[in-house]
Amino acid sequence: MINEFNFHELKAAERLPSPSGTALAIVKLVQRDDATMQQVSQLVKIDPALSGRILRFVNSAGFGARRPIANVHDAVIMMGMQAVRNFALSLSLIGNNSTGNCAEFDYAAYWSQSLAMSVAIAAITTRERTVLPEESFTLGLLSDIGRLALATAWSEIYGECLTMAQDEQLIALERERFAIDHNALNLILLDDWGFPQIFLDALKLSLEPETTDTSRVARFASQLAFARQIARYCLADEIYRASLLTDLKTQANLHHLGETAVINFVDEVIEEWHEWGKLIEVNTNIQNSLPKATSAEAIFSGLDLLLVDDDTIMLTRLSKQFTEAGHRVEVCRSGESALQYVIDHKPQMVITDWHMKNMDGLALCKTLRTSGFGKNLYLIMLTASENEDALIEALDAGIDDYLTKPVSLRVLLARIRAGHRIVLLQQALEKESRDIQHYTAELAAANRRLRIMANTDILTKLPNRRYALDRLEQEWATAQRCKRPMSILMLDLDHFKSVNDTFGHDVGDQVLSHTAKLMKEASRTNDIVCRLGGEEFLIIAPNTSGNTALLLAERIRSSIEKNQYKELAQHQPITVSIGVASSMDDKLGWNELMKLSDQALYSVKRSSRNGVQLVTC
Ligand code: GH3
Ligand code: MG
Ligand code: MG
Repeated sequence: MINEFNFHELKAAERLPSPSGTALAIVKLVQRDDATMQQVSQLVKIDPALSGRILRFVNSAGFGARRPIANVHDAVIMMGMQAVRNFALSLSLIGNNSTGNCAEFDYAAYWSQSLAMSVAIAAITTRERTVLPEESFTLGLLSDIGRLALATAWSEIYGECLTMAQDEQLIALERERFAIDHNALNLILLDDWGFPQIFLDALKLSLEPETTDTSRVARFASQLAFARQIARYCLADEIYRASLLTDLKTQANLHHLGETAVINFVDEVIEEWHEWGKLIEVNTNIQNSLPKATSAEAIFSGLDLLLVDDDTIMLTRLSKQFTEAGHRVEVCRSGESALQYVIDHKPQMVITDWHMKNMDGLALCKTLRTSGFGKNLYLIMLTASENEDALIEALDAGIDDYLTKPVSLRVLLARIRAGHRIVLLQQALEKESRDIQHYTAELAAANRRLRIMANTDILTKLPNRRYALDRLEQEWATAQRCKRPMSILMLDLDHFKSVNDTFGHDVGDQVLSHTAKLMKEASRTNDIVCRLGGEEFLIIAPNTSGNTALLLAERIRSSIEKNQYKELAQHQPITVSIGVASSMDDKLGWNELMKLSDQALYSVKRSSRNGVQLVTC
């Protein structure tokens, strides 16, 4: 165990990740006030690998250069001194630390996640400018360097820590073993490499709960926290990604990205991450799966526990012990107040005494079990005796476990741990079921949208040919079954080709939309107006005789003639020819009805156009 953390000693002993000679020279040069771009580009040119990568960086899509940059000096000017310095630093660190001695530390996953973080933060800062994206990129890449530093400096002990703990517990363990944790070490290293204070402050703040502060540091911190989540998402496999999505969407909201926008945004980050992976030789095909919370770890987080007893001494004693065991404890002195507390606060577990005035433990259990909010509570009853009948009654009332008084604290704590496992399993099941419901709803909505899209004409928003023919078949079958008349109208715009020829295709499109709208307006609610394709339309008129359909056709024809599209009105008014077919013949098929309406239409076309004609059979 290390009692005091000594950075300078470690650094002197070269036990920390350190940049290459060129990178270090660039870092030192840029620290000087009189450094020039010329000097920086000369240093970059010494290292051909660095030069190549800097050129690819400025020419990458994410950088957004308007013209190809072919020489290092221009690239350095484009990037700016600070960004070049950061870039050189990052690349040399990746190069020197792509593997190492700590067997338990996954170097490849570490760099992959760091790269995802840097691509994400650059993309976020491109959307909402707080700092320059090319500078935030490097901070992203080195934002977790403390972990690598611990793995490098103390590979063996850190390996042990990694097998023992994760997250918060790992931090605690690091402090215990090294007198520093990886987050604090991050800051020391970045400071030593000359990163600006605002970066350090933001990085520190990004690990704390979200604040409402709107300062630049706080906004950058919130962007870093969002980027961290995206990075985690990038490396997650499909199942793990699904579980991260809800939190990701919540965070995205803070950055004004809606549900669909965030998915597109993250997809772009993922694509760019892979591109970058190829560019700087970092493996981006690593997939993490859902972390399995070990029972020890989950139990470590404690339970929301309600203790119910009318004996104040007992309450005080037990609540102190449970709190010490890591639970969050509330106490109630009666069944009634416990019931109210459960309704208001929904604890995870209730431990209740049996004998209390008015509402006793048994009545409390019965009431909770018959209500929606108490169904899934874990209930432990403390009883005075081991009377068999009483126990059966309590178990039938819905308790999960019981303990006889005087209570052995060790046994009670063990029973709570056993109950805790059940509570966690139940929560996991509930979450899974919620997720499934959520995805089923999303899937149903997506399917609905797809169905609508597959049946809708994009230009006029009318039902398309596929829909028209299906619907015609259905309506025809219904009409024949119910022995009702049915008519259809086949419509074709006259000389439409010349509209395109004279005014262009765009105006042609607008005329099509305009006339489609007129058709819809002139039809009745039960008529189904569809676009078959081109300038041809079909209207299905259920329960409509030939004569009524003829009136409908005439109404549409005249409306189109009267309400001309503005540009056409004077030069080249648009008109429509309509063939109407109507039948009550139950031997006729719907496609024959179509043919009849077609014949009627062409008869109009052959004569005057701009007219209607009916055939019945
Ligand atoms: P007729 O009176 O004999 O029906 O003559 P017409 O010019 O309307 O008929 P024709 O079938 O010769 O031409 C139809 C034209 O419709 C050809 C094509 O360029 C145009 N067209 C088809 N679909 C679209 C579309 O989606 N948008 C536009 N702008 N034009 C279309
Ligand atoms: Mg046509
Ligand atoms: Mg036509």
